[in-house]
Amino acid sequence: MADSDEKPVETHRFQAEVTQVLHLVVNSLYSHKDVFLRELVSNASDALDKLRFKSIQEPQVLGDDATMEIRITPDEAQGTLTLEDTGVGMTHDELVQNLGTIAHSGSKKFLEALRARGDNPDLSLIGQFGVGFYSAWLVADRVEVVSRAAGAGEAWRWASTAEETFTVERADEARPGRGTAVILHLKGDTREFLDGWRLKELVKKYSDFVAHPIVLATTEEDKPRVETVNQASALWQRARADVTPEQYQSFYKHLTDDWEAPLAWTHFHVEGNQLFAGLLYVPGRPPFELDNPAEPRRGVRLFVKRVFIMDNCEVLLPTWLRFVRGVIDSEDLPLNVSRETLQDSAVVRAIRKQVVKKTLDLLDDLARDRQDDYLKAWGLYGRVLKEALHSDWEYRDRVAALLRFSSSQGEGLVSLQGYIDRMKPGQESIYYVLADNARAAAESPHAEALRKREWEVLYLTDLIDQWAIEGLREYKGKKLLSAERADLSAGDETAKKAREEKQGVLKPLLERAQAVLGERVKDVVASDRLTDSPACLVTPEGALNPSLERVLRAHGKDVPVVRRTLEVNPEHPLIQGLLQVASREPDAERVRDWIELLYEQALLVEGTPIEDPHRFARRLTALLQQAVTADNRV
Ligand code: ADP
Repeated sequence: MADSDEKPVETHRFQAEVTQVLHLVVNSLYSHKDVFLRELVSNASDALDKLRFKSIQEPQVLGDDATMEIRITPDEAQGTLTLEDTGVGMTHDELVQNLGTIAHSGSKKFLEALRARGDNPDLSLIGQFGVGFYSAWLVADRVEVVSRAAGAGEAWRWASTAEETFTVERADEARPGRGTAVILHLKGDTREFLDGWRLKELVKKYSDFVAHPIVLATTEEDKPRVETVNQASALWQRARADVTPEQYQSFYKHLTDDWEAPLAWTHFHVEGNQLFAGLLYVPGRPPFELDNPAEPRRGVRLFVKRVFIMDNCEVLLPTWLRFVRGVIDSEDLPLNVSRETLQDSAVVRAIRKQVVKKTLDLLDDLARDRQDDYLKAWGLYGRVLKEALHSDWEYRDRVAALLRFSSSQGEGLVSLQGYIDRMKPGQESIYYVLADNARAAAESPHAEALRKREWEVLYLTDLIDQWAIEGLREYKGKKLLSAERADLSAGDETAKKAREEKQGVLKPLLERAQAVLGERVKDVVASDRLTDSPACLVTPEGALNPSLERVLRAHGKDVPVVRRTLEVNPEHPLIQGLLQVASREPDAERVRDWIELLYEQALLVEGTPIEDPHRFARRLTALLQQAVTADNRV
């Protein structure tokens, strides 16, 4: 800590990535410079929320000044714009760390995101990465932050011109009261932000719903004029009829720092055993931490009687709704709740149930009324929602109704109900194939017999699909069956008999193949699901499908080797020809090679890499050579 007598001004070096962020912001040609106001007001509002929360346990932090406001003061003569709050303030160390020296994962991500977006990046993203403060340099070339932490005996001035360093010094007189003043020395071309009308318009536009009063202090004809410019009431407490779509949207931006409009929202007041208000949004772009469980999430904010309690209140939402953003404000929880006490609170459980219900209602409505937007949401969050099929049985049927799949019936996506509605006479179940992508699914040999019957086949191409669908098992009394595993002749005695007969006919070939492939396959059998392909591999019931197995292996998981069944198509000319050769010359070397090729191409078709591509290529070359030679002989 500095001794103000001996060392009046300390100089600190910005953390390296912060320097880069500053450099980028200062030199940016980004035209929507007004985002700085939203960011700084948002920081001030957070500081007031923190103070209010702190004062629940320690009322003395308020001292004799209970004022909670944000004040904006333009000064024409000095060319400065000052944003002040009477919030928690910052100590010397907090100023140094929060505004410059802490390595913050957000600054790195922000830089990466901007680089990925080319020459004229969208700086409005800045708040999303937790570096909103630096947006001040969009309009200022010098920024001072004068702050007194609540209850502290001293105040400090932080100052920087966006070089590689900043200074910190004592400034008790400049800030007699609690809180923070951010003083922006405006650049020559940003003096528009000294205009009272312009400031008022911006506050109305971006910060109207901020729950603390925002006061604009100007001078008019040499007389000071002070005016509160926002409604300063929590938006979610207002009646739905009193909030416009624009207000919902700008509140969303305030809440999430996501500059893109949300896809949908639901606003509700629940009365009954529990009293609470909620406002929940489905974002229009996936929050960047969606697939990154280690990242802190913004999630849903919890308020109690309008006092902000915590960000990202995980217990209010199941993980399969982790894309939802918003606010819950409870009247029943005590103000001193902590993450731990929330864990086993009956109030929280009741709220959570309603939150899930309202979110699912919202998605249902979207699917019914605005299909394009629903499909967009499905594309972004479908794979997250699917987790519920396995992990949350209570909501399985409701989530199942939201599922959408591509299928053998064409371009669009189909719901399970849509599938059932167009099932063919005689069809009892819902069929699907698991594959890496829709193309591979469309050509999957496993579904050949289904395609021949013109029974629709769903294409399950998300990694999570196998797991999810096994959690679901059936929908509206119809079984969900994998085309690969489904026994199409089940219950059909004639078909069963026919298959047994074929099995007998193919015996010499099947036995030879089993001997050649050995441990690599579980069994070699005659198939009744193939019409066009000579062979395919079938995974036994309950085992992982090959793509999931591959991914788990790639992630270093110890996955047991699953031996699969090679099914061959008794009707295929290749199989019939092979049978003849194998019966005539059971030990011929070329039969071995052909069986190997048959097996390897079955692997390739489903997207499994073959163990020894060189050997495969050699066999194929030899075979082609024979074919070409034979061709020339004719
Ligand atoms: P974020 O607000 O997303 O954390 P910022 O770059 O805007 O990122 O701010 C960095 C940190 O500086 C904040 O987390 C907060 O601790 C502190 N801070 C910024 N402005 C204020 C303020 N007006 N009062 C108190 N602390 C502030």
